[in-house]
Amino acid sequence: MIYSVIVDVSTSQLDRVFDYKSDENLTVGQRVKVNFNGLNTEGFIIAQKQSTDYPIEKVKPILGTLDNFVALSQEMLQLATFMKETYHLRYVDVLRLFVPSEMRGGKVKALEMDFAKLTDSAENILPQIKETFAQQRQIVQYLAKGAEKCSFLNKQFGTSALKTLKKKGFVEIYRNEVLRNVAQQLVGESNKHKLTDQQQKVVDTILSDKQGRYLLWGVTGSGKTEVYMNVIQQLVDMGKNCIMLVPEISLTPNMLRLFRDRFGDTVAILHSGLSKGQRYDEWIRLKTGKAKIAIGARSAVFAPLDNLGAIIIDEEHDSSYYSDSNPRYSTIEVATKRAQLNHALLVLGSATPSLTTFYKAQKGEYKLLQLPSRINKMPLPKVDIVDMRMEILQGNNSVISNKLKDKLAETLKNGNQAILFLNRRGYSSFLMCTKCGYVARCKDCDVTLTVHKESNTLKCHYCNKTYKKLTHCPHCGQQSFKQGKLGTQQLCDILNNLFPDAKLLRMDSDTTTTKESYTKILQEFADQKAQILVGTQMVAKGHDFPNVTLVGIIDADIGLYSQNYLANERCFQLLTQVAGRSGRNALAGSVVLQTYTPQHYCLTLASRQDYLSFYQKEIGLRDVAKFPPFSSIVRVLYTCENEQDCIDQVTLHASKFEQIKAENPDAFYFMDKMRCQIRRAEGKFRFQILFKLDNDYFNQVIDKIFAVCDVVQRKNVRVFVEVDPQDVT
Ligand code: ADP
Ligand code: ZN
Repeated sequence: MIYSVIVDVSTSQLDRVFDYKSDENLTVGQRVKVNFNGLNTEGFIIAQKQSTDYPIEKVKPILGTLDNFVALSQEMLQLATFMKETYHLRYVDVLRLFVPSEMRGGKVKALEMDFAKLTDSAENILPQIKETFAQQRQIVQYLAKGAEKCSFLNKQFGTSALKTLKKKGFVEIYRNEVLRNVAQQLVGESNKHKLTDQQQKVVDTILSDKQGRYLLWGVTGSGKTEVYMNVIQQLVDMGKNCIMLVPEISLTPNMLRLFRDRFGDTVAILHSGLSKGQRYDEWIRLKTGKAKIAIGARSAVFAPLDNLGAIIIDEEHDSSYYSDSNPRYSTIEVATKRAQLNHALLVLGSATPSLTTFYKAQKGEYKLLQLPSRINKMPLPKVDIVDMRMEILQGNNSVISNKLKDKLAETLKNGNQAILFLNRRGYSSFLMCTKCGYVARCKDCDVTLTVHKESNTLKCHYCNKTYKKLTHCPHCGQQSFKQGKLGTQQLCDILNNLFPDAKLLRMDSDTTTTKESYTKILQEFADQKAQILVGTQMVAKGHDFPNVTLVGIIDADIGLYSQNYLANERCFQLLTQVAGRSGRNALAGSVVLQTYTPQHYCLTLASRQDYLSFYQKEIGLRDVAKFPPFSSIVRVLYTCENEQDCIDQVTLHASKFEQIKAENPDAFYFMDKMRCQIRRAEGKFRFQILFKLDNDYFNQVIDKIFAVCDVVQRKNVRVFVEVDPQDVT
């Protein structure tokens, strides 16, 4: 039989199907060992056929299989093909998403251990062992219940007893696979709630059409998680499997704990915080049907489950659902396709759905479900908008307004907790010479360096390169510098001065470099070992701290006024989410939002958690300006160490694109080539061509754009096509 194989060679650009032969009866989707170009490597069988176009004597044999299971199901292969075609990806890059990287190249294998079992019944053996050999007798009695790990028996009863039993032929030792389970660490007590009437109605509606597409729009704290768990429970009871996606799993240990408590070993966790062995084993538990629910960040959409009943995407607006490096894809789009292939449910949930999703719900593409009020009818927090220009006029030059200072003091006095949100890490955003205006920049990136006081360094927040702190200006020698806007480190210093008795915790990507650090910070705060949590957008995610009664938003304007058409939407979502952390339990909450532009509709509407008004205003603007969802944005990004080569390549492609535009004049609202806002990154120059395409013509044109990009004349230039990119800097 002839098998078509995609060879898993990471370095080469090749993405072709090669024919191999085998006398064995192999299955499409299996991973196999093959020889390619004289090297032994791995591959995926993607098809099987009777004959090949190559001379049969030249067709090489398959050298063996790699796993004792079929890694990719038919449905997974169909999904892979869909992704390959939709995003113009290489087959091999897509297929790799479907198996844990640990599995490829044989890096991690199943863990095997020695087990002991009795060779005969305990009743028959025991009379043959003298009463004085107490430990041997104990082992036999223990093993009467079933086999056990030798390591356990040795620890419990001493090594010699087991050895003697083996010598006497009473026990037999054998090797078996064991799973590196992650469950034990997370088990807590179960806290099942009786659904409210509203929740019950939502659950019933979702399950009434098991192939439905739903958008669950529920304010923060409205009990969406409970709805997800209920839907999943009912589907699992019917013998179905489910996928639950969350934005960033290390930031939502809460969610994990809830699922563990409710579903125990039926849940497998797929995320980067696990060890390689654990990740592999969790994947195997799903593959072998031991686990029925996969929970994880975006890559869990590729979980090896068949008979899928639902894919649920929580916080569906989150930008982490877009993969913005190779292979680029939209998780919602992939999940939609996967749900369709499985005749399964798709549920998107958010307090602040993306405008595109909400627009689709309005058009009937998703059925809209609402949870408009918080559980226990707790009111949404009251938000005070503070005009920081007035503070300055009133003689307060601090970054903390009088209002926020008073509220913080009150919160601390009452024994409650506060979260302060500042979406800028480090100490200050730049360092500038006061004499000549020199600003420290990264050597490799067109980015100003951020001052980090703790490590006494300057850091590039694009490539993470670290530089020594400047003592004098390298240009003019002057020794005095002006610093840019404050970051989380500086905010902590200021708070320490204002409230020396309060304990602070800081959560940003500088304090969360290790796997455990997120959990540790969140746990300490939950245990009320600290009163104030300072952090970047990480503190905005779905945390549920019952004792938090105050949220302070230090600089609400960050992110507004950028050129990205998504800026307002992102700002609104972030502020609403942060504000939603306050007063989630029995205690009423308040929020202080500091800004220099208090009249901006993004801020006023976020302060009222008025999603619908925001949606109506913003969608109107998008319609007028023809931004998504009323058009599609495509960016072709070019990067190269050699600036001229990059320009040449852009020019060559641009003329081809002009041709397409001339042939399809109605398809293009806009097309232009330009330098990227970040002109150079990690030593590479960056250019882009931006398209704004009419949705009706999108399919007609996008393949032509891809086809142009497939041919790169300057070999050192890398070209990336991004559809509806989240970021065009
Ligand atoms: P959301 O995901 O919408 O922000 P959560 O699911 O976190 O909301 O729920 C908010 C809080 O309400 C949680 O502490 C949760 O345990 C609680 N809760 C959810 N459903 C119920 C219910 N039916 N009865 C009582 N408490 C509930
Ligand atoms: Zn850099």
